[in-house]
Amino acid sequence: FIFLSSVFLFVLFSVLHWSFLYYRRSLPQCIKRAIQNNAMEVYFQPIVSLDENRTHELEALIRWHSPYHGQVSPLSIIEVSERLGLIDELTWMVIRKVGMLFRQNAELLKDIRISVNVDRHSLIHEDFAPTLAKVTDEWPELKGRLGLEVTETTALNSIELPLMVSRFEHIKALDIRLSVDDFGTGYAGLDFLRRFPYDTLKLDQIFIASLKEDQFTRQVLTSVTKLAKELNMEVVAEGVEREDQLEAVRELGVERVQGYYFCRPLPTDQVLEWLMAEQARKSRL
Ligand code: C2E
Ligand code: MG
Ligand code: MG
Ligand code: MG
Repeated sequence: FIFLSSVFLFVLFSVLHWSFLYYRRSLPQCIKRAIQNNAMEVYFQPIVSLDENRTHELEALIRWHSPYHGQVSPLSIIEVSERLGLIDELTWMVIRKVGMLFRQNAELLKDIRISVNVDRHSLIHEDFAPTLAKVTDEWPELKGRLGLEVTETTALNSIELPLMVSRFEHIKALDIRLSVDDFGTGYAGLDFLRRFPYDTLKLDQIFIASLKEDQFTRQVLTSVTKLAKELNMEVVAEGVEREDQLEAVRELGVERVQGYYFCRPLPTDQVLEWLMAEQARKSRL
């Protein structure tokens, strides 16, 4: 009997031990620890202004390499964080890192803006604008230079339109810029551009890939770009990978470009080097 019960206890403990380890190594648990231990990284991708021939903005993009899961895609990070209720923490972490970057590199970044993606969950939180006010008090260098990227779908489908418009106006009142991200992937009509106080419109990369062959897309994007400019918005083309795509984008009248053709998202030290090299080149001219 003693033998049998010790075998039973041994098996029980092993099962508990392994399921505990398994649980600790599961993706959600790893993401949770990484957020709590501040182990996630933020990369920055240059957005180049063709008319000024320089980087005028960076987009902050979350990056995380897990010892058990390898490189985890930002979309999984966002989705899991949302489920675990940790997404707000992540959003404010990224925004504070941007504040820190501005503070530590004031001279180098004096003409550079940085934009941060904001998911639906964080944005509709009723404390979003008040927290943003607190964070910009803490990091005044963010004013006039931080931009938030909100997808068209988030803007349209999250809360009632008037509520979203007032949320956006709150944000603008703090001197924070607003971009509509992935434009063209949702169902926004052109009236959408008039209703929301956006500063920048980012054409989704899905259109850029097919621009050369697709005359219809070209016509639509030419009109959208024209309208956006009439509404005093900047237009950015995302996902430009090749020279012919750059030419096609130029023909639309778009002057701001983001994509592998110029530069991939880079870790902080490398993006600072990129900017230093660019500014050194400029001052030699
Ligand atoms: P997004 O905001 O539309 O970001 C642009 C995505 O396009 C990035 O993917 C970027 O790496 C990628 N990209 C840039 N240039 C090129 C190119 O030339 N070719 C191709 N194929 N891709 C290019 P990434 O970093 O994987 O992020 C995916 C999405 O995850 C983002 O799309 C954004 O919606 C979300 N995301 C990333 N970081 C954050 C974050 O900190 N917070 C939130 N809420 N969402 C984030
Ligand atoms: Mg974005
Ligand atoms: Mg985008
Ligand atoms: Mg996207």
